Amino acid sequence: MSKTSDDGPLAAYLAKRDFSKTPEPTGGKGGAGPEGRPVFVVQKHRASTLHYDFRLEVGGVLKSWAVPKGPSMSPKDKRLAVAVEDHPVDYAGFEGTIPADEYGAGPVIVWDAGVYRNLSAMKEDGPKTMQEAIAAGHVEVALEGEKLRGGFALVHTKMGGKERNWLLIKMRDEAADDAGGSDITDARPDSVVSGRSIDEVGEGE
Ligand code: MN
Repeated sequence: MSKTSDDGPLAAYLAKRDFSKTPEPTGGKGGAGPEGRPVFVVQKHRASTLHYDFRLEVGGVLKSWAVPKGPSMSPKDKRLAVAVEDHPVDYAGFEGTIPADEYGAGPVIVWDAGVYRNLSAMKEDGPKTMQEAIAAGHVEVALEGEKLRGGFALVHTKMGGKERNWLLIKMRDEAADDAGGSDITDARPDSVVSGRSIDEVGEGE
């Protein structure tokens, strides 16, 4: 069950968790989506505060940001996205309850999931790969989820002088919704894999 490498890309993830207690994945399983395409997932997580974990598969891990207000389909909204530790790719399928006293204790549901395209790859100049885009602090992806569709930008603003602070912004395209897009987390609150609400998953906590 335990992971042998203590200095790989998942070192921070592994160090925070006791896998004899939490049902979260240890890594090493899972992989890319259909036809080898990279996956994204948004997990609704009720830990000490409710937030949405936005994750993109990049280079064999899930690059991850915690979004307190969740994503919006309105380009008018700029949602704080706090960079957190890389997660294993098989975390994308995780739905369940992290036990009390464990890191991130509380229920998790797969709020949205699908595959994505790196929009930077098609640009004339600037960063091309996802790794380059993240290093440059400006990521543009097209999401193909059940709830989230079309372009999204992640911009490394470092607001408040905090290295971890990015913004998640819906790009303007045919999927954008200025009128009702801000409320997608309330309008469509439940899991896309099980149909369950976060309260149902968290029952018996
Ligand atoms: Mn979380």
